[in-house]
Amino acid sequence: MAENYDVIIIGSGPGGYVAAVRASQLGLKTAIVEREHLGGICLNWGCIPTKALLRSAEVLDHANHAKDYGLVLEGKMSADVTAVVARSRGVSARLNGGVGFLMKKNKVDVIWGEAKITKPGEIVVGKSSKPVVEPQNPVPKNVKGEGTYNAKHIIIATGARPRALPGIEPDGKLIWTYFEAMKPAALPKSLIVMGSGAIGIEFASFYRSMGVDVTVVEVMPTIMPVEDVEVTAIARKQLEKRGMKILTSAKITKVEKAADSLTAHVETADGKVQQITADRMISAVGVQGNIENLGLEAVGVKTDRGCVVIDGYGKTNIAGIYAIGDVAGPPMLAHKAEHEGVVCVEKIAGLPNVHATDKGKVPGCTYCHPQVASVGLTEAKAKEAGRDIRVGRFSFAANGKAIALGEDQGLCKVIFDKKTGELLGAHMVGAEVTELIQGFVVAMNLETTEEELMHTIFPHPTVSETMKEAVLDAYGRVLNA
Ligand SMILES: Cc1cc2nc3c(=O)[nH]c(=O)nc-3n(C[C@H](O)[C@H](O)[C@H](O)COP(=O)(O)OP(=O)(O)OC[C@H]3O[C@@H](n4cnc5c(N)ncnc54)[C@H](O)[C@@H]3O)c2cc1C
Repeated sequence: MAENYDVIIIGSGPGGYVAAVRASQLGLKTAIVEREHLGGICLNWGCIPTKALLRSAEVLDHANHAKDYGLVLEGKMSADVTAVVARSRGVSARLNGGVGFLMKKNKVDVIWGEAKITKPGEIVVGKSSKPVVEPQNPVPKNVKGEGTYNAKHIIIATGARPRALPGIEPDGKLIWTYFEAMKPAALPKSLIVMGSGAIGIEFASFYRSMGVDVTVVEVMPTIMPVEDVEVTAIARKQLEKRGMKILTSAKITKVEKAADSLTAHVETADGKVQQITADRMISAVGVQGNIENLGLEAVGVKTDRGCVVIDGYGKTNIAGIYAIGDVAGPPMLAHKAEHEGVVCVEKIAGLPNVHATDKGKVPGCTYCHPQVASVGLTEAKAKEAGRDIRVGRFSFAANGKAIALGEDQGLCKVIFDKKTGELLGAHMVGAEVTELIQGFVVAMNLETTEEELMHTIFPHPTVSETMKEAVLDAYGRVLNA
């Protein structure tokens, strides 16, 4: 007889496993189905291993600039890419094991295999179509296996996979996705990165630090197109200063492959076509939801442009079926997935005062060098929305800590509603901004106005002082510029 649960979650990424922990905390009998790796893309092939790679890049950059800090390190430092990748894979493996521990601690049953919804309240778990990468992502012990399982509530948390452009499909050899880019056997001498969203620009930054000749090709007029243009202009200048070549308003129309290199035909805004030859290319043109082979069509779950359609609590159009995380649409970020998981499960458990996820307050961070971070509306979007705004800016060049760090190229920019003082958006580029943005996220969530921010004491000397100065600047009260 099929085993019964209150909640079954399909997919153990940050959306799924966090939802499972919360469901268990709320007393719901919970199981999670996974076909490949506990922790999903985030822990195994996304957020975490990239940050480990980027940390190696940062240490190497610092070592190569030791002289700027009065230090003597003999010769030019270089990377042992095998060791760099091994460290990154080790970090992932540690966290993958951590998710297994959390499932056990919270008494969440792990079912190993590929799940399909057969009808509301029932799933069938079959053999996985994906290989498990041992020993880095081992199948946890004591898992349940293939079979039929029942649950009052089924949460789809199946994540996303790389999107491919027709004719320029990744082949794993010359054209990489993030999977191959994450663990190169050797460093290419030259690399084209197609797409300058967070994933593309992080890899571009990593490979450039490793000494690779990197060219980024972006179809939009600016890199990191969702970010504020002032911020991305500063980031671009810094990346170019580091030797990266960047083409914007440029489209790769064709790729010709040779034995161990490729040539991209790049069409620029003026209609001219240039050919760029490189050893390898990373295709970073976005991701698409994993909605296939889940039985969604048969059950009648509504999808739109490759993602499951949900309300603010993860509910689909079919009672008892929910979706969270990347498969439920943008922004495709781990913290959005986690938050949606918690909101969904708390609503299922009937907790009072559960707030729908507000996608307007999801921060975005890009961990290239220099880092970029933001929350809320860009200046352009605020204007587009017809808001009457006040804008404040503060340059890192006037911040003592940034100068002491040797990282004085950066900006903090804030956008307020002129009438109400509501903080509409904050945008930062420079040292440690991915850690700092959370200050503005909390402020926005508490519906803080300029008044409270101006009366908050920021520690000195910190880069965070740029945040307060930017707020003061918006109101003509800047102190240190
Ligand atoms: C290179 C890279 C860097 C990134 N960096 C960041 C970052 O710095 N910050 C950030 O917030 N986000 C980052 N992301 C995005 C982040 O990884 C995703 O937003 C996040 O993983 C989404 O979580 P999820 O739970 O929705 O899905 P996923 O993490 O994709 O997990 C889904 C899981 O479901 C499983 N699954 C799928 N179908 C089935 C099935 N039928 N049966 C059983 N199991 C199934 C999959 O095997 C997978 O383990 C990055 C992504 C990439 C690729």
